[in-house]
Amino acid sequence: MAERIDGKAISLQIKDELKKQLEEIRAQGGKRCLAVILVGEDPASKVYVGNKKKACEYIGIESRSYELPAETSQEELLALIDKLNKDSEVDGILVQLPLPAGLDERQVIRAIAPEKDVDGFHPVNVGSLLIGEPGYVSCTPAGVIQLLKRSGIEIAGKECVVVGRSNIVGKPMAALLLRENGTVTVCHSRTKNLAEVCRRADILVVAVGKPRMIDASYIKEGAVVIDVGIHRMENGKLCGDVDFDAVEPHCSAITPVPGGVGPMTIAMLMNNCVNRVTE
Ligand code: NDP
Repeated sequence: MAERIDGKAISLQIKDELKKQLEEIRAQGGKRCLAVILVGEDPASKVYVGNKKKACEYIGIESRSYELPAETSQEELLALIDKLNKDSEVDGILVQLPLPAGLDERQVIRAIAPEKDVDGFHPVNVGSLLIGEPGYVSCTPAGVIQLLKRSGIEIAGKECVVVGRSNIVGKPMAALLLRENGTVTVCHSRTKNLAEVCRRADILVVAVGKPRMIDASYIKEGAVVIDVGIHRMENGKLCGDVDFDAVEPHCSAITPVPGGVGPMTIAMLMNNCVNRVTE
């Protein structure tokens, strides 16, 4: 029976550690403040922003909320970011993505000062990760590393296969596994013999965005399987990119969906807010 990696419990453990850490910071007169910008009325984005605010409250991070109408112009959004960049009371700035049509996400990400970019999406932070310098790391892949480490799973020297090469998951995931001394292969839609490549993996991280695509034929016996995917099925339940029931009997450890990678993303956002990168 595979070990189920409990992202809910691990994320709570991290949030409790951060809460303690922030109590110490506050005892010395410090504080942390996150500015959250939401443009438009997307219901899923509203839920995500609500969850982030709740997590801030739990840890003791002050959160400032900017809810702008969908017809906000690029100039207005950039002006707000500029104001928050210059505000010494604000430690982190988060713009909830996706933005409504007509707004330029690329430009918005670049407008956030890298030292306040707690999502870790700015090219300066992405570059810092690649060259091994301090910087904010994208929260979901950073959460995967914590899941592995806190479950006692060694990464160094392991064959790590990442399925997916998006800027927010696949690419930073590969960079982080490499930083942890894994031997890393990155797969994508043009990869040939995907199942065969995946079967090389001691640690398989799947961020492909296709419900239950990865079945037992992709798994080496005893592998660790991390499922980043999250999809709502017709019956209202959630599933991942991995066919959990088919894969679980073949691996040594696996993350469920929900309750695996999902809760870690917010925990790592909170970590980025508490542990500022100032240089
Ligand atoms: P994207 O759609 O941006 O990227 C998907 C990647 O998978 C692409 O690199 C694509 O390749 C590759 N791919 C697509 N189809 C195939 C295929 N048949 N074979 C091999 N590779 C393929 O997704 P994201 O990275 O943003 O997200 C991935 C999943 O993770 C989604 O389910 C998303 O909902 C979830 N997610 C979960 C988070 C969480 O907090 N738990 C946070 C972020 C995402 P190519 O580049 O060639 O097109």
